Amino acid sequence: MKASDTSKSPNLNLRAKGKNTYDAIVVGSGISGGWAAKELCEKGLKTLVLERGRNVVHLKDYPTALKGPWEFPHHTKMPLSVTAENPVVSRCYAFDESTQHFFVKDTEHPYVQEKPFDWIRGYQVGGKSLLWWRQTQRWSQHDFEGPARDGYAVDWPIRYNDIAPWYSYVEKFVGISGNRDGLDILPDGEFLPPWEMNCVEKDIASRIKTKYPDRHVIQGRCAHLTKPQPIHLEQGRGQCQARNQCERGCPFGGYFSSNSSTIPWAMKTGNLTLRPYSVVHSVIYDDKRGKATGVRVIDAETMQEQEFYADMIFINAACLNTNLVLLNSTSSRFPNGLGNDSGLLGKFVAFQNYRGNIYADFDGPMDHYYYGRRPTQPMIPNFRNIKKQETDFLRGYMTFYGADRPRAYADEGIGGAFKEALGEPGPWRVSMSIQGETIPKETNHVRLSKDKKDKWGIPLLVTSVDYDDNDEKLLKDFFQTGSEMLHAAGCTNIQTVDTKQAPGLDIHEVGGVRMGNDPKTSLLNKWNAMHHCPNVFVTDGACMTSTGVQNPSITFMALTARAVNHAVEEFKKSAG
Ligand SMILES: Cc1cc2nc3c(=O)[nH]c(=O)nc-3n(C[C@H](O)[C@H](O)[C@H](O)COP(=O)(O)OP(=O)(O)OC[C@H]3O[C@@H](n4cnc5c(N)ncnc54)[C@H](O)[C@@H]3O)c2cc1C
Repeated sequence: MKASDTSKSPNLNLRAKGKNTYDAIVVGSGISGGWAAKELCEKGLKTLVLERGRNVVHLKDYPTALKGPWEFPHHTKMPLSVTAENPVVSRCYAFDESTQHFFVKDTEHPYVQEKPFDWIRGYQVGGKSLLWWRQTQRWSQHDFEGPARDGYAVDWPIRYNDIAPWYSYVEKFVGISGNRDGLDILPDGEFLPPWEMNCVEKDIASRIKTKYPDRHVIQGRCAHLTKPQPIHLEQGRGQCQARNQCERGCPFGGYFSSNSSTIPWAMKTGNLTLRPYSVVHSVIYDDKRGKATGVRVIDAETMQEQEFYADMIFINAACLNTNLVLLNSTSSRFPNGLGNDSGLLGKFVAFQNYRGNIYADFDGPMDHYYYGRRPTQPMIPNFRNIKKQETDFLRGYMTFYGADRPRAYADEGIGGAFKEALGEPGPWRVSMSIQGETIPKETNHVRLSKDKKDKWGIPLLVTSVDYDDNDEKLLKDFFQTGSEMLHAAGCTNIQTVDTKQAPGLDIHEVGGVRMGNDPKTSLLNKWNAMHHCPNVFVTDGACMTSTGVQNPSITFMALTARAVNHAVEEFKKSAG
């Protein structure tokens, strides 16, 4: 149905002026854009989703999903020539011969690293929702209170209770597996059955809990269908098969992606127009009407510029690209970027500290093994600075750990003995990793290059983001407490590794267009609308006021559903 055709359904597009006019525009079709599209379309709005990359249709466009390693030229390893040409994306653990088609190559989309920043991107319908690790923990009241508690970054305009019903709403649709652990620091959600810890992980969990009664050890929560419900079957998704080859696209729809879930759901309403190969250049601001009226798009294939119009615009291009689009949206009213009266657009960018790994041996039962490739790990929710400020660093970190019995590694030998070793699992090994909060700072920022442009004529993004002393202290604390916990759990040969990786490789970048109560110190209000341009909404990572210790995407989804609900209520009121 055309956007202007109002005869077939009671949709709200009563004032359409031309074929490029919609009720709502969503920029980006990844995790948050997919949710915006689903919610807007279900509420009857004719919605245009503009996606800069190609279309990726669930099932049809997963060319490697069912291949064995022997079917790849290099058994899934990346050739050295590709790695040398693409040092940034090659550092991502999920980038290999079987998944490379869903990643942006460094060579194709340059940016300027004033300070090293590994910017990992997926430019296609579905964005990074095809590639993510799918770990999904709610934020707690403690996380939302972080800035107010210690005064670093501005206060969040919302608290846990504002978002809790929206977590429930998205969790039921997405399908999240987990235990109801009853913890304040990591609230429970709407869970499908959990994945099981293996025998060594259980052993470690119980020994840590005995030695440290105030620390919790629980199974990770993740966006996998362990027991599909009718709402998931209705999406055409089925049970997770524990293949853990998710980043190739899942032929079972066992994990949540925009491609398997929100985009086809939105499409079914008849209200979605999906336009791939549409690079959004900027938002159009009408000085006279005092509002945004649409977006300028460069067609990625023809290089033609086009404009699309709507009364409501959601920018969901993923954190840094959302910053880029808004910074590039200049007008006489907003010479420094849309809504940027405060001058803070692009500033207070933050990320998560992923630099710490700990490895150890464990003398576990050699007659025990585990089956399937579980898509999550046990975790220890944050236990630092909960009741009071007790360390020399601010905020805290959560910890993942896991135990496995790896086979022999390729560098361990050749010939018959090596072949034999490959056939049997080796001794138990334990690994532990950090996911730490970083403090948003004005100096950590992104901006537009003054002289360099991409091939669509859009200024390149300059990244200027770095660690600070707080991050170093937090990492040191993780190494010490993590090692102590593993020692208490009976591990031996404990070794700490500081990967020294650049910010960005955590792929949890947030901020630059933060929410807040005061327009002088924030860009967005409590409904994710721009203070100074309220028909433009930002609900991806760019809106985040602080980083918390949790993996962020389930919060982006909940904020998006909440913002759409509010925006459409207001839209209906103004439409009379
Ligand atoms: C390997 C990996 C593991 C991860 N693990 C986890 C995890 O366990 N848990 C978690 O919570 N998060 C995880 N993440 C992060 C997660 O993927 C992101 O937080 C999430 O995808 C962000 O959603 P988004 O909608 O903001 O962006 P995306 O999903 O990246 O979608 C943005 C979309 O916007 C499009 N776009 C960009 N610029 C423009 C433009 N100018 N015009 C038009 N379209 C544009 C892009 O092409 C893309 O499709 C992981 C990411 C990766 C890569």
